[in-house]
Amino acid sequence: MATFVKILIGSILAAYLAMKWTAPSFHPESLKGARVLVTGASSGIGEQMAYHYARFGAQIVITARREKVLQQVAEKCLSLGAQKALYIPADMANESDPDRVVDFALEKLGGLDYLVLNHIGPTTFGMWEGDVEHTRWLMKVNFLSYIQMAWRALPSLEQSKGSLVVVSSLLGKMPNPFTLPYSSTKFALNGFFGSLYHELAMKKSNVSISICTLGLIDTDSAMDKVRFVKYAKGRYKYTSLPRHRGRIKYHHHWSNKTTGPLLSVVHTSHNSNKRLVSFNNKLLHPELLQLHSMNNICLQH
Ligand code: NAP
Repeated sequence: MATFVKILIGSILAAYLAMKWTAPSFHPESLKGARVLVTGASSGIGEQMAYHYARFGAQIVITARREKVLQQVAEKCLSLGAQKALYIPADMANESDPDRVVDFALEKLGGLDYLVLNHIGPTTFGMWEGDVEHTRWLMKVNFLSYIQMAWRALPSLEQSKGSLVVVSSLLGKMPNPFTLPYSSTKFALNGFFGSLYHELAMKKSNVSISICTLGLIDTDSAMDKVRFVKYAKGRYKYTSLPRHRGRIKYHHHWSNKTTGPLLSVVHTSHNSNKRLVSFNNKLLHPELLQLHSMNNICLQH
């Protein structure tokens, strides 16, 4: 019995130490004065991320299309403790704007430590009715502008040993009905930045990439889209697609709840620390900021 207790205590101790050893470390002071560019920061998650960086005393540039709202967000960032808070209105569907925004941040901040790519163009969820033009436009906003900005910022991030943070979605991992254009852009992001992660590793790059795969989070725009999905699910009596059974798995993860597990993230590397982060108040504080120090993140499924 005594031996058993010793082994048990030893195992618990070893497991505890292993957890401690592999847990990502987060040093709030590392964000003091950090030079951060956050896109899609006039509302929702981007706005909240800007406030979190502000609380840690970062120097921030925010961007989105609505200038007036950006101005208000920047003022709040300053009141929360940001060392600098600048804004630049831009439309990511416009071919030159992604570069213009990065250049602005590089010039005003003297380089970048964090590039947080988060914006998305408005899209409604519904049955695919062949709107190729909208999908092409959404690809520009949600995907092509991301790779353009990342490329433009990479030399500076390389110099600063910085982080590239890409906000993606569960819908970039699991095909679902009613979300085709949006989902395609998120699959593209995961493919591109997942592959870039490997190439940067091969080049022994200093830049860390975090792909944040979010589940449903109750931002105004997301809840609008979900309202349609609830309606459509009733309308189409969506139960199963017999011909595809066994080949494609449909996961019904839409939920009425706005408070369920919101962001679930798992390391893709050897260890598998899972963490859940909620949107209101606690989003990214400090957990999301910890994510920047991880190499690559995706949802476990
Ligand atoms: P949101 O509230 O709709 O915010 C979108 C942001 O993008 C706004 O700041 C918007 O500002 C900006 N934007 C829209 N069109 C733009 C354009 N053409 N050019 C530049 N900026 C543009 O979205 P959210 O719910 O916070 O989502 C943020 C991120 O999380 C997205 O990447 C999304 O895919 C991801 N995500 C969210 C959820 C969720 O449930 N909320 C789930 C999974 C993943 P302006 O209108 O001022 O331009």
